Amino acid sequence: MPPPPTLKISEIFPSVQGEGLRQGEPTIFVRFAGCNLRCTFCDTKYARSGGTDVTFEEIAARVAAVRRHYPAPWVVLTGGEPYAQKLGALIRRLRADGLRIQIETNATIYRPWPADWITVSPKPPRWSYDPRFRRRADEVKLVVTKSLTPAVVARLRREFPARVPILLQPQSNASWSRVRARRLLEDALRDGLGNIRVTVQLHKIYDLP
Ligand code: SF4
Repeated sequence: MPPPPTLKISEIFPSVQGEGLRQGEPTIFVRFAGCNLRCTFCDTKYARSGGTDVTFEEIAARVAAVRRHYPAPWVVLTGGEPYAQKLGALIRRLRADGLRIQIETNATIYRPWPADWITVSPKPPRWSYDPRFRRRADEVKLVVTKSLTPAVVARLRREFPARVPILLQPQSNASWSRVRARRLLEDALRDGLGNIRVTVQLHKIYDLP
């Protein structure tokens, strides 16, 4: 009999969602290993390759074990790049266990998975993404690197529905990036662009993983 299919994971841990509109909510993170991009500012470089092979049943069992002492209602599937692997069976199983699912993605690979919240985070230098995410995104999260310009923010604002917020997230909470985020927000305001806001990475302030 062939061995059961496995997924490559980096880590599973309880924390608080530190980014985006779900910021502050207790959440269990399932971090998948492997990514199709190589961003210089990546703060999870350890998860871009390697990883451990685990069946989706074992991931669900590990999440259930975490929930016995940390009964968070949300699971975030993150990476690495979660859409680079086949997570459909895992998502169905976690939802059957009563969990709400958020996916954080660089949005270059699309799959029509059910999820309760999808965070689309296009990356420099092209800030490109699969256009099918336009109808699926619940938020667009942009790391404020030196290459994030008012023109890029304006383009993404035009491309995504007005109901989808665009979040300007300073790179590693750095002061230069916070200044840049504020300027980008002011430029957007002056250009009449709506539903854009600045954020921070809350988990770093709380010293959480
Ligand atoms: S897409 Fe995300 S995980 Fe992949 S290299 Fe860029 S920041 Fe890192």
